[in-house]
Amino acid sequence: MTYDLISPVDGSVTGTMTEAGAAEVDAAVGNARAALAGPWGQLSAPARADALRAVADGIRARFDEFVEAEMLDTGQPRHVMEKAFVPRGAANFEFFADLTKNVPTESFETVGPHGERALNYAVRRPKGVIGVICPWNAPFLLMTWKVAPALACGNAVVVKPSEQTPRTATLLVEVIDKAFADIGVPGGVYNVVHGFGPGSAGEALTTHPDVDAITFTGETVTGTAIMKAAAEGVRDVSFELGGKNAAVVFADADLDDAVDGVFRSGFLNTGQVCLGTERVFVERPVFEEFRDRLVARCEAVRYGRPTDPETTYGPLISHEHRDKVLGYYRAAVEAGATVVTGGGVPDLPIELAGGAWVEPTIWTDAPDDASILHEEIFGPCVHLTPFDDEAAVIDAVNATPYGLATSVWTTDLSTAHRVAGAIDVGIAWINSWFLRDLRTPFGGAGQSGIGREGGVHGLEFYTETKNVCVQL
Ligand code: NAD
Repeated sequence: MTYDLISPVDGSVTGTMTEAGAAEVDAAVGNARAALAGPWGQLSAPARADALRAVADGIRARFDEFVEAEMLDTGQPRHVMEKAFVPRGAANFEFFADLTKNVPTESFETVGPHGERALNYAVRRPKGVIGVICPWNAPFLLMTWKVAPALACGNAVVVKPSEQTPRTATLLVEVIDKAFADIGVPGGVYNVVHGFGPGSAGEALTTHPDVDAITFTGETVTGTAIMKAAAEGVRDVSFELGGKNAAVVFADADLDDAVDGVFRSGFLNTGQVCLGTERVFVERPVFEEFRDRLVARCEAVRYGRPTDPETTYGPLISHEHRDKVLGYYRAAVEAGATVVTGGGVPDLPIELAGGAWVEPTIWTDAPDDASILHEEIFGPCVHLTPFDDEAAVIDAVNATPYGLATSVWTTDLSTAHRVAGAIDVGIAWINSWFLRDLRTPFGGAGQSGIGREGGVHGLEFYTETKNVCVQL
C-alpha cells in the first residue's frame, strides 16, 4: 500500500511512500540477522569505529541533501537543520565510534572459600537485532542517536522512522551501504521499513520474535503499547517518551538569558521538542517584565518557507497534529485561562494558507486542573505562573507523572543546585537549555522514559555483558 507525504508548509503532496507489511518487516529482520552472521559480526571494535567514522564523513559529503530532505519532511527552517539537526546526525556516528573503542571492561581476582584462585572478567557482546522506532520531531538527530550506538556496539538494526518523516532515514541507507561496502561489509546491517504504528510496520517490528531489543522515542501511550509487545519473549526496551517540562525563573536571574532560554525551550521547532518547556514559573517581582519580554519574542517570529533565510518559525508537522494543538488552545480558553498572545491560526499569504500553522501562544491564570497544565501538548505554547515560595514551586513543578527535563534560572549558586536537585527529572539545566554533551546520561524519570542513553550509559542497553570466570 502507498501513502502520500504532505508538506506541513503548504499542504501540497511532496511524495509517495510504500508501506511495509509483516512480510517486508520479516525480510528486513532476516537481513539484519544475516548481517550479524556475516563480515559485520567479525569486525573488531576499532574496525567498526572506522566504519562509523566513514558514515559520518558520508553524511557530511551529502550534507545539503540531508538538509533538504529534513526541511521537506518537517517544514522547519533551514538554519535549524544546518546548525543543529543534521550536524548532530554526523556527530552521533563519530562520537559513538570513539566511545565504544575506549570502553574498559572490569576484572576481578577472586579467592574462593577453599583457597581456589580465579580471574573474573567481563566482555560486552552485541545484543543482536535492534528494532528502532522513531518520532517525527527531530527525525535525523533522534534516529542517529540510537542507530550510531547500536552499530558501534556491533548490532544490526531495523529502523522504522515516523510515517511523516521518512526521507533522511532512507538517504542514510545509501550512505551506510556505501561506507560499509568499502570495507567489504555487505548491506543488511542498517535496514529501514516504512509505515505506521498499529497494524502496520511499527507493530510488525515490535512484535517480531527475532528482534532482540527495542529502542523507542515517542509518546508515552505508544511506549506502553510497545512495552506490552516486548513482554512477549522478554525483550529489553529503552524508551525516551513524553514530558510536561517546567522552567523556574527566580527574580535574581539574568533576565536576558532567562527570556532567551525559555523562548527557545518553548518555541524552537514550533514547540515540538521533547525537552521543551510548556510550564513556566516566574518569581513574582519579575513576573510582568518576564511575561512582556517573552510575548515580544513570540510576536517577532517570522513565518515562512524553510528555504527562506528570513524564516525563524515553521509550521507544525501535520494538520492532524495542528488539530490536536488547536484543541488545547480552545480548552485553555474554556478553562478560563488568559490568552496573552497567540491562541489561533496566523493570517498568512495564500501560498502558505494550506500549511499546518499555529501562532506561538502564551497563557496565564489557568485554573490548577486545566488540561494545558497537565497534558503534553507538543506545540508552541507555554503557561506562565507567578510564584512566591521555593518549596511551593518545587511541589508545583513535580506535580506531574512525567519527569523528563527542567531548567532553573537564577544567579544564586545554592538556589540553583538546591532546586535542580529537588525536581524529579532525568535532565536539569541551570541557566541554560538544550546544552548537550553526548557523554552525559540522557533519559526521563517517571512516565518520561525507561533507561538512559548517551555516553557509556547506552552500552547497558546495546550490549549484553558476559562474565567469564577462569580458575587459575
Ligand atoms: P508517536 O508515539 O506517535 O510515534 C512515534 C513512532 O512510533 C512513529 O514511528 C510511529 O509510527 C510509531 N508507533 C506508533 N504506534 C506504534 C505501535 N503501536 N507499535 C509500534 N510503533 C508505533 O510519537 P510522535 O508523535 O511521532 O512524536 C512525538 C512524541 O515523541 C512526543 O510525545 C514527544 O515528547 C516524544 N519525544 C520524546 C523524546 C525524548 O527523548 N524523551 C524525544 C522526541 C520526542
